[in-house]
Amino acid sequence: MKKYNFNAGPSKLPHKAIEKTAQQILDFNGSGLSLAEISHRAKDFKPVVDEAMSLVKELLDVPDGYSVLFLGGGASLEFCMVPYNFLIKKAAYLNTGTWAKKAMKEAKLFGEVIEVASSAAEGYNNIPKGWTCPSDVDYLHITTNNTIFGTEIHSDPNVSVRLIADMSSDIFSRPVDVSKYDCIYGGAQKNLAMAGLTLVIVKDDALGKAPRQIPTMLDYRTHVEKGSMFNTPPVVPIYSALETLRWIKSNGGVETMEKKACKRADILYSEIERNKLFHGTAREEDRSLMNICFVMNEGYKDLEKPFLDYATSCGMVGIKGHRSVGGFRASCYNAQTIEAVQALVKCMKEFEANN
Ligand SMILES: *Cc1c(COP(=O)(O)O)cnc(C)c1O
Repeated sequence: MKKYNFNAGPSKLPHKAIEKTAQQILDFNGSGLSLAEISHRAKDFKPVVDEAMSLVKELLDVPDGYSVLFLGGGASLEFCMVPYNFLIKKAAYLNTGTWAKKAMKEAKLFGEVIEVASSAAEGYNNIPKGWTCPSDVDYLHITTNNTIFGTEIHSDPNVSVRLIADMSSDIFSRPVDVSKYDCIYGGAQKNLAMAGLTLVIVKDDALGKAPRQIPTMLDYRTHVEKGSMFNTPPVVPIYSALETLRWIKSNGGVETMEKKACKRADILYSEIERNKLFHGTAREEDRSLMNICFVMNEGYKDLEKPFLDYATSCGMVGIKGHRSVGGFRASCYNAQTIEAVQALVKCMKEFEANN
């Protein structure tokens, strides 16, 4: 039976990226050696890193004066690297969910943390509005897409302080005005690459301002100076990122990714609204195009497990909601197909008809 992969992360990647990476693992560029067995400093590998970096810059229209880094450690290590490198006295955080809270927890180790706004009281079903950011903070940190709660900040905010964003789960899904940010980061395993890679885009002249000793590996300047080659970077995931980036480019770039995301989300949210069994958990204006969360309506709660079983029997994979929201979550990153979303909708309609 055909499987439809809605996993939240690691998650569906373009098939071509998987296939090409698999080929290169068997035989890298016809060298008779595996991609997994060569030095990251091999002369054949340098063009991989160079092309991947230049595609990141091209696809996101990254201005001059920014560096693209390929690191290890995941977005979770960035929660600590960001304050290490940027927090002098105090920083502001927008609390939009689990990941934002984890980022705040790390920042508290380095200075004062101001929560500019929080949607915790409403179960993180929305992005707080109408808040202001103090002008005397070292930076404001936002989480552009809340993978667990299914909310998303759909446009780049205007603030007068440095802006730093965790874009783990929506990077490359829409155009971003990089010039508004001093640092953008994300674990690559949601929308870009095989797990093990962290993408960082950092403004060079924002670095070196925090008056503290930073351990070598945690200092962004180390990686900027060495072109992400200070130590061994995750070679295979970087290659898979290159293939995903090539795929994004050949499919029309981030503008097309955004159109496709809107189309997928529209199909699924429309069915969630129409279907008597379900309702969406996020407030409409803040709904994520990437992680579509829905639960059973009042009166149908006991059908949650039967629906999951039915959907699984129809080939749906990974639609169980995160334990903090319950219900269901269909993750629809760049590589997700309209066909998969239509298959899920068909399944929802059939289940409704049978119940
Ligand atoms: C998955 C996720 C993380 C954690 O990423 P790791 O690479 O596993 O550390 C952080 N932030 C967001 C928004 C995420 O979706």
